[in-house]
Amino acid sequence: MKKQIKGRVDVTARILEINSHEADVNGEPKKVFSGILADETGKAQFTSWHDFNIKKGDVFRITGGYVKSWKGIPQLTFDSAASVKKLEKSKISKDDLESNKMPLHVLVEKRGALDVQVQGTVIDVRAGSGLITRCPECKRVIQDGICSLHGKVEGIADIRIKLVLDDGTGAVGAILNREVTERIIGMNLNDLKKMKQDDILEMINKLLIANKISLKGNALGDEFGTSIIAQDAKFVDIDLKDEAEKLANELEDLL
Ligand SMILES: [Zn+2]
Repeated sequence: MKKQIKGRVDVTARILEINSHEADVNGEPKKVFSGILADETGKAQFTSWHDFNIKKGDVFRITGGYVKSWKGIPQLTFDSAASVKKLEKSKISKDDLESNKMPLHVLVEKRGALDVQVQGTVIDVRAGSGLITRCPECKRVIQDGICSLHGKVEGIADIRIKLVLDDGTGAVGAILNREVTERIIGMNLNDLKKMKQDDILEMINKLLIANKISLKGNALGDEFGTSIIAQDAKFVDIDLKDEAEKLANELEDLL
């Protein structure tokens, strides 16, 4: 959505998801449609206050309405004053939109993005990773059983990893929640509860630092930079055949 980060909507996009719900408008019930659409440059959330008979999978040219950006993620809103035309033929293929792969410098420029896939080397595991305790009320991370909002509470154990990913073109932060952390380290919360925090951090560092991983999730930008809220994290297998060929070529050059 490069053309319309802020201002009027003018976009040709495929609808990836659409839902409807009833909203209360001046005491009158009104059907509101919302979902996710995508063009070649990325994905955006949209809200339509009018029934344009938009269907999942179809491609539309949408003009009118406006675009706002929340933490770098574009949000389109339009009503009956907008023009929404279904296109029978479009260059936007379904396959192009399946994964929203992005080099990190592009993501840093965009600040945020919906449902992206990135790859890079873990260059840092930040403080606040490993075993943490959350307030049962507000889910904030707490220290010594004291929540700044709720006072003394019975904390809930949780695990997460905060890391910095670099692909040579740029760097972003990422947060891996319990589910994603358990998957990538191959251990669960109960396993970690039996370990000392120093040992947990050492293990996470050994496992991740200088290794290549791929992440999927939403990227949110704020004054501290861009962070990916990971929904999935995987180690990237280095292509051994490729590496071997490269080495062979280099040796040939030397001979
Ligand atoms: Zn609290």
